[in-house]
Amino acid sequence: MKAVFVKEPRSLGVVTLPDPSPGPGEVLVRVRAAGICGSDMHIYHGTNPLAKYPRVIGHEFAGEIVALGAGTEGLSLSGGRSLSIGDHVAADPVTSCGKCYPCSVGRPNVCSKLSVFGVHRDGGMAEFVAVPAANAHIVPKDWPWEKAVMTEPFSIAANILSRTECTARDSVLILGAGPIGLTVLMSAVLLGARAAVADILDSRLETARSLGAERVFNSKTQNLEEEARKWCEEGVPLIVDAVCIPELFPSLLRMASPAGRIAHLSFAEAPAEISPLEITKKELSIIGSRLNCNMFPRVIEWFGRGLEPEKLISHSFPFTQAREAFSLIEEKPLETCKVVLTFK
Ligand code: MN
Repeated sequence: MKAVFVKEPRSLGVVTLPDPSPGPGEVLVRVRAAGICGSDMHIYHGTNPLAKYPRVIGHEFAGEIVALGAGTEGLSLSGGRSLSIGDHVAADPVTSCGKCYPCSVGRPNVCSKLSVFGVHRDGGMAEFVAVPAANAHIVPKDWPWEKAVMTEPFSIAANILSRTECTARDSVLILGAGPIGLTVLMSAVLLGARAAVADILDSRLETARSLGAERVFNSKTQNLEEEARKWCEEGVPLIVDAVCIPELFPSLLRMASPAGRIAHLSFAEAPAEISPLEITKKELSIIGSRLNCNMFPRVIEWFGRGLEPEKLISHSFPFTQAREAFSLIEEKPLETCKVVLTFK
């Protein structure tokens, strides 16, 4: 089979590898679409501290089941589903040990032995990939592959909004109108929350508005703290930081309302200077969110309820042109949103 392979940082190409076969408990997926994520760009650039090389990348992928490994035929999975050859599936890239403390409290996405497809183990930018049956989530056969492949990016948003207990009563300020910020926006709007989005690019803010943001703020030309205060007099109940610049952190604490929550997604190692008093006096919750914790069924249900994830896809390329796709994202980051690779 052919696969998108990062041999070492900055060396990306399409190579021929042996076809995988499904082990016990696994199913073989013929990949039909794979999304390119910011974290794939980091693996490519050598700036993802978690990645190991060489690596078949890709943690956002969907395809068709073409073979069942031992013990998976008729196997009953959570939600009462079982898998058959020909099923269309979106693959959850998170695999966990099931035994450690985080696994024992239902948090497999931060498993002590976490292994993510496309990061710690070979991933989905390949013609075939074997995945544990429990990671294969059936999607309707009439969905375009571009829709099915968006399940993983929206699982990030679902995890953030689940961790922060977002409800229809919330006002959510989202910092950053890139792919993550926009998936959070669309998901919060679907849940009935009011949402505002801040970014420094008017073009992205226009997109945010078209996707349901009731207010947009250009934090380069406007004073974000003042605007946020006008939007929510008591402070903002829920802030999702998808910009992740440590220096912004003190400002988030100031903008949050009493009893507010701040979702934190950064992989930055630089320290942020914060005022502990703000946290105590307002009893703030600062909540980390990473990957997703069994959110695929929820996202598939959202897509069935009318959420249109394809709106975030700006480009698609045959996977054989992966290098061109990565170059486009590198050279025109402002003109690309989600870029998808397609497989025949
Ligand atoms: Mn991703």
